[in-house]
Amino acid sequence: MKILLGAILILALIVIGFCLYKTYKEQNNLARTVKYVLFIGFIIVFFNVVSLYTTSKFVCHFAYSMYFMASDWLLYHLFKFSMEYVGLDFRQYVKRGYMIALLVADSLSIIINSFTEHLYELKEVNLFGGESFYELSVKPFFYLHYAIVLMLVVFCLISLFYRAFKSPRFYRNKYLLIAIVMIALVIMNVFSVTSAVDVSVIGYAVEAVCIYYCAFVYTPQKLLPETMYRVTDNMKIGVLLLDIDGNKLFCNKFATKMFDANEPMIDKKGETLEKWCMDKYGDSKIEFVEDRSFYLNGKEHVLKIQLQRMLDENNIHQGGYFVIQDRTKEIENAKREQYLASHDTLTGVYNKEQFISKSEKYIKRHPDEDLYIICTDFKDFKMINDLLGTKVGDMVLINYAGMLDEMAEKFEVYGRLGNDIFGILMKKEYFSEELFENKAEKYFAETGIETSFPIVKYLGIYEITDREVPVSVMCDRARMAIASIKGDYTNTVAFYDRTMRSNVKYEQELISGLSRAIENEELKMYLQPQTTKDGKLLGAEALVRWEHPEQGFIMPGKFIPVFEKNGLIAEVDKYMWETACKQIKKWNENGHEDLYISVNISPRDFYFLDIYQIFTDLIKKYDISPKSLKLEITETAIVMDVKRQMELIGKLRDAGFIVEIDDFGSGYSSLNMLKDLYVDILKIDMVFLRKSNDEERSKKILQMIITLAKQLGMPAITEGVETVEQVEFLSEMGCEMFQGYYFAKPMSVLDFEKQYL
Ligand code: C2E
Ligand code: CA
Ligand code: CA
Repeated sequence: MKILLGAILILALIVIGFCLYKTYKEQNNLARTVKYVLFIGFIIVFFNVVSLYTTSKFVCHFAYSMYFMASDWLLYHLFKFSMEYVGLDFRQYVKRGYMIALLVADSLSIIINSFTEHLYELKEVNLFGGESFYELSVKPFFYLHYAIVLMLVVFCLISLFYRAFKSPRFYRNKYLLIAIVMIALVIMNVFSVTSAVDVSVIGYAVEAVCIYYCAFVYTPQKLLPETMYRVTDNMKIGVLLLDIDGNKLFCNKFATKMFDANEPMIDKKGETLEKWCMDKYGDSKIEFVEDRSFYLNGKEHVLKIQLQRMLDENNIHQGGYFVIQDRTKEIENAKREQYLASHDTLTGVYNKEQFISKSEKYIKRHPDEDLYIICTDFKDFKMINDLLGTKVGDMVLINYAGMLDEMAEKFEVYGRLGNDIFGILMKKEYFSEELFENKAEKYFAETGIETSFPIVKYLGIYEITDREVPVSVMCDRARMAIASIKGDYTNTVAFYDRTMRSNVKYEQELISGLSRAIENEELKMYLQPQTTKDGKLLGAEALVRWEHPEQGFIMPGKFIPVFEKNGLIAEVDKYMWETACKQIKKWNENGHEDLYISVNISPRDFYFLDIYQIFTDLIKKYDISPKSLKLEITETAIVMDVKRQMELIGKLRDAGFIVEIDDFGSGYSSLNMLKDLYVDILKIDMVFLRKSNDEERSKKILQMIITLAKQLGMPAITEGVETVEQVEFLSEMGCEMFQGYYFAKPMSVLDFEKQYL
């Protein structure tokens, strides 16, 4: 009998040993605890074997002590294992110190029992036909040890059950199995611990196997496919898993839908996606990734189909899986992004970058064609935005782009270069000015704006002669051509020629030289007398000249328009105004108190300067009368914003300045407008005196202006008077002041003083 029992126990030892060996391969916290549990289990069984075979009572005592002591620690670790296994933090829930102290005390008590026998005694009994065994005869103290053991068992069970009922069905078995074996073990133990043959020890082997299996091997049978479904169900990717023969092992929701027999995805030939995949799978052993178009209800879907083969450790084919992604949206987005990057968002035509790159390619590919780069630019587009609102401005641009679309066959490339500027590349032979005729009714379509609104656009044309020039520079040149005619009312089409480039360079030099010119007093004030009919001096107009250190004497016609374009004119004017004031002060000191100087105010000055403040400051600074300053404001400046300008003019007149309308009759002016102008003097432009086809007509208008102005309380001065006849008929018409070469040309201050003072 002993041999049979021993054999069973040794078998148990082998089983536990095997589990222990397997556990050594695992690397984690749980594995460490499992190792302790198994190791102590091993010791328990081992000492059981010893107690079974020994004949020495002392050795048997020792073996039993070890067995009981080991049970304490086994359960301690089992408890720890249970906690860790169910995912609870052992240290957080258990006062380890107290528990270990209790177990150490119990262990000591067990060890000294070999001498004191306060827990139990060993009694030799003869069983099974005379074989001798040692049997335990327990004493009351033993139940203290037993209580500790049971407490630990209960703790273990609580944590295992706690977890079992909180887990999904799949996992529950994993916890319950250990718990049930543990309960069985305890029950067996209760009944057999004191008997000579403790069969419960075999339970340790069973528990060891359970623990090892549950902790490291067991995964619920259905869990894997279930998890696969769960994980892949929400994916917008089709997954199809096949075995080596092409049988479906798994197919997620997305793939199932794509393979749906009632509504299948088919390719151009009408073959279904599923069949295509299966053919590919059977075809060869290779893996691939491919973008292919399939159609669902006629709508194209671009699918990225990927086949991956699965190989085992020995590189033997085990099956494979398809991953199918619908890239339609992605591709659409990419196309959209590309569209946005290359097209103007407002008008939908190419943007600048795209226009340039497309044009560059076209020019390169067609070396023998005669081509134009054309830029179109609306005149005063800012005014359209200001007066009619940016919405209308936007509509005009959209309509204009639409018109270009309509003419697209005449163009090679066209696009919006920015703001109100469009670029066109076209064959020379297709070009005609009529093609670009202004069509207000089309520009303002759907805006509700009267088509009589004066809208004009300029055309700048660069003929491509040098193909090495970058297109962006070609566009600049076309725009240079436009710049050369801006402000010109009759001409709206200009071709680029080489001189324009040197003009631009020249202008650049002027601009960069201005601040130095002001600092070095290169700008000179010239004075042109304003007189009565008889040449009696009344005052003078201040006209600027530039004594350039390199270029010599420069007339204002050359540099004023340049500075007017970029606003630098304000610097010139401020300088001239101050120079004029200084001069007046000097004259005043020399007793010429009745002379005045007439200064020019550029239309642009109103944007950049606080005119009222500057002039009131100047007369204070030089202590001169405002009456000795005449302010020449062109009618263009007033037309830009009549209400605001009239307010300012009113303020200036209230302050005592004499305000004069310059160049009256040269631009927009109408006689009708005269009644709204409250100024001191009307300065009639010299156009009326120029030789023209219809001199009589000119004279009639002149007569009317002079008479009307007089009636409205504004004396007139005529400029550009060159002949005695002109003086005669102008004075007959009622003009009382004159300025012109007939009397004197503009001259330096020195000459002026010599001649007149
Ligand atoms: P504007 O203000 O209309 O000045 C009159 C221009 O006519 C002056 O030309 C003057 O020399 C010229 N002129 C005077 N009498 C006669 C004549 O009998 N026959 C002819 N053919 N021309 C005559 P200038 O000095 O070359 O000035 C040209 C324009 O430059 C001026 O026209 C004015 O618009 C601008 N300008 C001159 N100086 C200044 C200035 O300091 N500031 C501003 N903003 N503009 C100025
Ligand atoms: Ca003037
Ligand atoms: Ca003038």
